[in-house]
This record gives sequence, C-alpha cells and structure tokens, in this order.
Amino acid sequence: MKASPGAAAATGTAEPVSPRDWKRLAASLSPGATLYRPGNPGYPPLALPFNHRYAGIHPAGIVACATTRDVREAICWARAVGLPAVPRSSLGHNYAGYSTTTGLLLNMSRMKKISTVPGRGAARSRAYGPIKVVHGAGTVTVGAGVTNGDLHPLLEDQGIFVPTGRCPSVGVAGLVLGGGIGFSDKMFGLTCDRLVATTVVLADGRVVEAAEDSEPDLFWACRGGAGNNFGVHTSFTFQYERFQGDVGFYRLSWNLDSVLPVMATAQRIAQETEDDKRFHLRLGIGTHGRTRDQIRANAGVNALGQYYGPLDELRAVLAPLLAIGTPEERARNCSAVREVTPAEASTLLSATTPVEKFAAKSAVLNSRTLLDDRQVAAAAERLLDWPGSGNPEGAGLAMFALGGEINRVPRRATAFVHRDDLFILAAETSWADYDSPEVAAANVHWLHDFYDALFPAAPPEHSYQNFPDPKLRDWREAYYGVNYPRLVRVKRKYDPTDFFRYPQGIGS
Ligand SMILES: Cc1cc2nc3c(=O)[nH]c(=O)nc-3n(C[C@H](O)[C@H](O)[C@H](O)COP(=O)(O)OP(=O)(O)OC[C@H]3O[C@@H](n4cnc5c(N)ncnc54)[C@H](O)[C@@H]3O)c2cc1C
Repeated sequence: MKASPGAAAATGTAEPVSPRDWKRLAASLSPGATLYRPGNPGYPPLALPFNHRYAGIHPAGIVACATTRDVREAICWARAVGLPAVPRSSLGHNYAGYSTTTGLLLNMSRMKKISTVPGRGAARSRAYGPIKVVHGAGTVTVGAGVTNGDLHPLLEDQGIFVPTGRCPSVGVAGLVLGGGIGFSDKMFGLTCDRLVATTVVLADGRVVEAAEDSEPDLFWACRGGAGNNFGVHTSFTFQYERFQGDVGFYRLSWNLDSVLPVMATAQRIAQETEDDKRFHLRLGIGTHGRTRDQIRANAGVNALGQYYGPLDELRAVLAPLLAIGTPEERARNCSAVREVTPAEASTLLSATTPVEKFAAKSAVLNSRTLLDDRQVAAAAERLLDWPGSGNPEGAGLAMFALGGEINRVPRRATAFVHRDDLFILAAETSWADYDSPEVAAANVHWLHDFYDALFPAAPPEHSYQNFPDPKLRDWREAYYGVNYPRLVRVKRKYDPTDFFRYPQGIGS
C-alpha cells in the first residue's frame, strides 16, 4: 500500500490502484453496499452525472454506500491508496461537474432513510389566513441520498414540510450544504436554516455529529459552505413545520413584448414585500426551440409562486402584474391565481429538468443592483439571439426573490452570506446530447454574452455557490464574502491535508 500523498483535484488524474487493493475495499463494505468498477453492468448509470457536459470524467471506482461505516471505509481506503474520493448524493446535479472524479466516487443514493420525531411541547401554531402552520412541530432526519422529491410524500400524507428547492431529483445534501432556495424560504428560511444536526465522516475517518452545541464551527460551515469541503455527510436533521389548510398559488405568463413592464413591476413588488414572509416569487424570461422562428415564438416572461395567506390578499399583491398584457393574457393570468393544498402547490411549483447538458452564471441582486429597463431590454434582445438547441429546457434567466426569514439571519451567523439581498438570479442555457459541438460551443458563448449584456458595467459582487460557474475568477468573495476567512479556518481544522478538494473548494 502507498502512503497517502493527499488527494488529486476532484476531477484530476487518479493514481493506479492494484486489484488486491480494490478487493480489500469491496470486502470492507456492508452487505447493502456495492463496489462498481468500469466494465461492471451497474457502473455506467452511476458514473454518468446529471449534467452530461461532464460525462467524459470516469471514476476509477464507485462505492454505492449503504451505511456511514461504508463511507468511512471508502474514505480511509482512498486515502491509503492515494485516490481522491468525491461524494455524489443525487444524480450529480452540480452545475460545474464538482461531483465527478477520476478517483473514487461515493454514491450516496442508497442512503434514503427518513425518520421523524414529533416535537416535545415547544411548538407554536399560527394562522396565516386559510393556512395554519405549527412551527417547530418536530424534526426529520434524512439519509444523504434523499432528494427533494423523496420528501414530498411527508407533506402529502402527514402535512410535514421542510423547505427545499424546485427540482425533485436534486439531492438534499448538495442543496442544504450550499444554502437551498425555494418557494417557502422567505417564510421558513433556507433549507440550511432548518438544519439542526448533521453526521459527517471526516477525511481522517472520524465520524462526528455537527450541531449548535457539538462541533459548532463545522455546523456553521455546513450551512452555506457548499458540498465536498469538510467531509462527507451521511445524514441531516431538519426542523419541520406542519400544515393545515390551503395556500395561494399563481403562475402568470406573458409574451416577450411585455418584458419591460413585467420585470419592472415584479421587481418593485419584490422590493415592497421584502419583509412580507408570506409572499414568494420566481420571475423568469426564457425561450426554447431549434429554429429562429421557434425561438421567437416561444420567448416569454413569467412569474410563479405561492402565498401563505388569503387569496384576496395575494390578488392585491399581484394586482399591478395582473393588469399587464393583452386582454387574453390578463384573463388567463387572473384565473391562474388560486387556492391549493400545500402538497398541490409543491407539485405545481416543482419542475423536472431534463438531463443532458447545461451551464449557468448567477448573480445576487440587492436593492441597488436590481435590473433596470436598459438591462432587461438588452437581455430580451439577446434571448432572441440564442443559438437554439434540442434540449426542451431552453435558455433564459430565473430570479428567486429573497427576504423575510432569510434576511433576518445575520450574514455571519451561518456560512451562507447572501442575507441582505433581494434576488438570486441564474442565467442559464442548455443543449442536448445529440447537438453538435458547434451548437454546444455557441450555447456556452451565448451564455457569457447574455450575462455581459445583463451587467454591462460590472457583474454584481456576489453569486450563489449552488450555481457554481467554473469560469468565475473572484469566486471566494462572490460565493462567501466576509465568511470566506472563517471557512478557510474551519477547513484547516477539519480537513488539514485538503483531502476533499476541487477547483473552487474552500482553501484552494
Ligand atoms: C435542475 C436543477 C434545479 C435546481 N434547483 C435549485 C433550487 O430550486 N434551489 C436551489 O437552491 N438550488 C437548485 N439547484 C442547484 C442545486 O442546489 C445544486 O446543484 C446542488 O449542489 C445539488 O446537490 P446534489 O446533491 O443534487 O448534487 P451533487 O452533484 O451530488 O452534489 C453537489 C456538491 O455537493 C457535494 N456533495 C454531494 N453529496 C455530499 C455529501 N453527502 N457530503 C458532502 N458533500 C456532498 C458534491 O461532491 C458536489 O460538490 C438546481 C440544480 C439543478 C441542476
């Protein structure tokens, strides 16, 4: 066996390992776990990341872990043989391919256990119009392989809710470690704000429980410090809420002709409702298609969200938006504001993104950096120049409104620093596996142009760490701001040899 030289970069070159070493790893795993090597039938689907842009990075081996002990064995083995080890908790949604490796991939998707513990006494119940929320109703502990969608039955069957993101296949692990924005975060905080404890396997094989009163520095870093920086998390415990009654839901859309009034009005509403934790908004412009005509015909602007309160109040908040557009659009949008159960809202607000290839650039906007008419007009113009692709997801931008409980947390209280802001913006493009290399290159080029058109002077200082952009130069400041130096100190304490490493990893 070789002494560990520390890990190569997450996507870097791995060292050759002897067949005996691989056998030893397989023998150390629990009966529920499996080691896959290239050539095994189970290997290809687990090796392939959700973002096929990074499909060419093949792990030397994959451990489908079933227990915390498997994770520990795999990490200790990887260190001993000199391979990097990289966790992947879902299908591997990371935008920059940071859950790929040529070393050992730790696939956590078999760790799907979900258990709930009702709260003892401290719950507060509060009515917000037609919906009653029991705050602090209990805790739910989920295995590292649990996805957003796996939590849905809890809401459907028992009214138990943890705020997560939009896409059912995104892993709770990557989501919570980088923050976690969605359609309930102004009301209940980010996913990371609901975290009360997490089990972490460190690079030296120690298994620790991080919580407010146990490994507090690590617990601080896990709430926004992003995945694969400090250790491999095998479970997360969240405080949950319990719901009774209905919420207000809306989905509004317009032709691109209305982009200026819609974007200006919606941003103003977001600003006016920054402290109103009941109102949630995702604003978008986008298109899809392959030909110029399709791209033009499909281009549009939309607003989507929910409201924890009476429907007439929601209609009053949305009134300036409902007055925009053609008579047909206004009639359609008015009827698209309705009351639904929280479980229905969760389904209606979720979006299953087709796999294949995509890229994003993000920006965090505050009241001084909201988009003005000139920026919106430039973005709409560039949208029509999008090169097109066979991916139905298309291209455009999405803006998630912030405020409420998110902004009540001081920016140094957790590693997630974006606490005085109004929107997280993602400019995105996608293309299909069968699109030509020219189409792929044109899409990437377009994304940079589109982003530059949005921010012609200088891009906003901050960017969301869960939408990583491998080309971002000042990522330390952009993702973590004033919290970066403390993150580096936590990294040195818990992973002093920099075993968990990738190009935008803490301390790299
Ligand atoms: C289609 C789509 C929709 C999205 N929607 C939202 C949204 O609504 N809200 C939002 O906030 N974000 C959203 N995101 C971004 C998402 O939060 C990040 O991509 C997140 O990192 C994905 O986590 P994952 O576990 O699914 O991915 P992975 O690629 O498995 O992991 C992401 C990172 O975390 C590391 N990691 C994974 N598991 C562990 C673990 N157990 N321990 C330590 N490190 C680990 C990985 O190595 C990698 O660096 C979306 C992304 C996509 C592709």
